[in-house]
Amino acid sequence: MQASPLQNIVIVGGGTAGWMTAVALATVLKGRYGIRVVESDEIGIVGVGEATIPMIQRFNRLIELDENEFLSATCGTFKLGIEFVNWGRMGDRYMHGFGRLGRDLWPVGFDQYWHRLQATGQGHPLEQYSITRMASRANKFMPARTDIENSPLQDIAHAYHFDASLYAKYLRRLGEARGVRRTEGKITHATQRAEGRHAGHVDAVVLESGERVEGDLFIDCSGFRGLLIEQTLQTGFEDWSQWLPCDRALAVPCESAPVLTPYTRATAHRAGWQWRIPLQHRIGNGHVYCSRHISDDEAAATLLSHLDGKPLADPRPIRFRTGMRRLAWNRNVIAIGLASGFLEPLESTSIHLIQSAIQQLIDFFPDRGFNEADIAQFNRDSRFHYERIRDFVILHYHLNQRDDSEFWRDCAHMGIPQTLQDKMDLFRSHGRIVRVDNELFSEVGWLQVMEGQNLRPQRHHPLAELQSEQATFDYLESIRTVIAKCVDVMPDHAQYIAQHCAARPM
Ligand SMILES: Cc1cc2nc3c(=O)[nH]c(=O)nc-3n(C[C@H](O)[C@H](O)[C@H](O)COP(=O)(O)OP(=O)(O)OC[C@H]3O[C@@H](n4cnc5c(N)ncnc54)[C@H](O)[C@@H]3O)c2cc1C
Repeated sequence: MQASPLQNIVIVGGGTAGWMTAVALATVLKGRYGIRVVESDEIGIVGVGEATIPMIQRFNRLIELDENEFLSATCGTFKLGIEFVNWGRMGDRYMHGFGRLGRDLWPVGFDQYWHRLQATGQGHPLEQYSITRMASRANKFMPARTDIENSPLQDIAHAYHFDASLYAKYLRRLGEARGVRRTEGKITHATQRAEGRHAGHVDAVVLESGERVEGDLFIDCSGFRGLLIEQTLQTGFEDWSQWLPCDRALAVPCESAPVLTPYTRATAHRAGWQWRIPLQHRIGNGHVYCSRHISDDEAAATLLSHLDGKPLADPRPIRFRTGMRRLAWNRNVIAIGLASGFLEPLESTSIHLIQSAIQQLIDFFPDRGFNEADIAQFNRDSRFHYERIRDFVILHYHLNQRDDSEFWRDCAHMGIPQTLQDKMDLFRSHGRIVRVDNELFSEVGWLQVMEGQNLRPQRHHPLAELQSEQATFDYLESIRTVIAKCVDVMPDHAQYIAQHCAARPM
């Protein structure tokens, strides 16, 4: 028998997480449930989080978003990957490009034939088999041409860079137009049911004005503070700083550079790294660092000395702790966004984690019964997503050969999760990479980082020897040549934007 449906959903917080959740629920629930966002202008939003991964397109389809309108409204640009500078060794440079690498033709994957040619000294750099990497080098962009069969143009996968405050505003406009009610005010505390089957469930949040906002389901999008999930329900936090020791960031926008690059750059420094996110009207920059190894002043000086243009504000400090809440869903509270945990933005995964939590919420949407089995599965899935991304981010730190600072030496020698060790061991023996279940990063992502940071397999797959060396060479050469020709005809990134989605912030 169906338990009675929920009536009122209260979303606490109006940052990226709050408004993404509100718009998605308003779209999917089609006005059958009351959706209310409570946010405080005085507290504001974290205001960073400007680079995404291609999975965001699924979310955009879910909320029926028009790509060009969205990029115009958020001064956005296109992103084809992330360039990593100084990660393996000082002076190294590689890219984690989105989409496919090469083309599968024979029994084992393309990468194994590439390893084989590398071993005989005939291979070209990996990037030459990736259309997104080659397009990034040339500052070109176009979306995938799914209508052209057997062309690398089909393989273009893209994401976006956008202005975080404009994104929250844009989503708010969509949400309100789809029936979401917004309440401005600072929440002082939450009240919980005293008795009954659902004793301990949150039943209302109380504002400074004294107003009570009641609900059946509460989505905690209140940011790092975790107003409901932690301050009210004391769910607990699992700290991962033994593997990801950075704990602070400084963010600063600067003037644009002459060339509009279609990728994020992550440059490793002495005790952390710096992001560079090109938007239409400015470049977003930030230095993520470990406060045990570098002072705030030094971190600010490093950041400011690596900008492309004049800074447009003073560096803004942000403190964080890496890890996740022990439970993302506790009683009738679901934490989404920074309230659920934090992994540093090295692979631009936080907005993706918001999106995947929203999809899980839709999959396990509760009624008033709040089924324990559903909640447990939701929590297992959240942990799985967080842990698999955590391992991928740790890989970047651990797999370094730098000897110029204690920070990098510590990272190279630290113990790592067994799940990551297994992945590295598997690759080291025969270059094999196995994607576990539906973990976010595919074989192509892992390969690019492991190869880019100088991990080499001892051997390749034995079955890659079944083709002759000449046939293998010709096969790879044809892929490389076609990619180069395709990149030649692609439009320039800045031109593409000017034609389709020039900035028009609201
Ligand atoms: C340094 C840094 C860089 C990042 N870069 C990226 C990136 O490149 N890509 C990416 O995907 N992610 C990135 N992230 C993560 C990304 O910024 C967040 O996932 C995203 O902004 C979501 O934040 P949020 O909505 O959870 O929290 P917030 O933006 O902090 O929003 C919290 C909301 O809760 C409200 N609130 C809080 N307390 C109260 C109260 N008492 N009463 C009423 N309202 C309240 C606030 O007003 C606000 O509206 C980055 C994060 C950091 C720290």
